[in-house]
Amino acid sequence: MANMQKFSIQECYRKLIGESEKVNWRNFVWNRLTLPEHRFICWLVMKERLNIALRLRRMGIIADPLCRLCGLLDETHIHLFFNCPFSLAMSQSISNWMQFDMFGVSIESSIRKIITSRRSRFQKQVLLAVLGATIYFIWLARNDVWNCKVC
Ligand SMILES: [Zn+2]
Repeated sequence: MANMQKFSIQECYRKLIGESEKVNWRNFVWNRLTLPEHRFICWLVMKERLNIALRLRRMGIIADPLCRLCGLLDETHIHLFFNCPFSLAMSQSISNWMQFDMFGVSIESSIRKIITSRRSRFQKQVLLAVLGATIYFIWLARNDVWNCKVC
């Protein structure tokens, strides 16, 4: 900040919080082709607010944080939606069906892939809706397995 020629509160704030990548998720969550229940789950995923196993363990609700779909690693948002073998198989099938590899290593990178693709605006909206539906159904599958193991 000592190198600043002119003092600016906005510039000081930016330097204090560091440079961050601009999140372009609003187009995704509020895409008019994405169903409302899909939007809500996607919004929770982006905010990392879903009650995943690791979070529940930290709250002392459960003892086992392993992913319920694969049982290989701790269930985190990134693992559940982008690294779990179940999710990877599902996203690969959907990518083949859509003839576009829309899934990245995170929800942000997936959105970026779609937004920056050479597609029409409507095609991008459809791809964003498919991404939202995929995340929603992975979450449903996880909850189905979760409910079976708890009973
Ligand atoms: Zn898994």
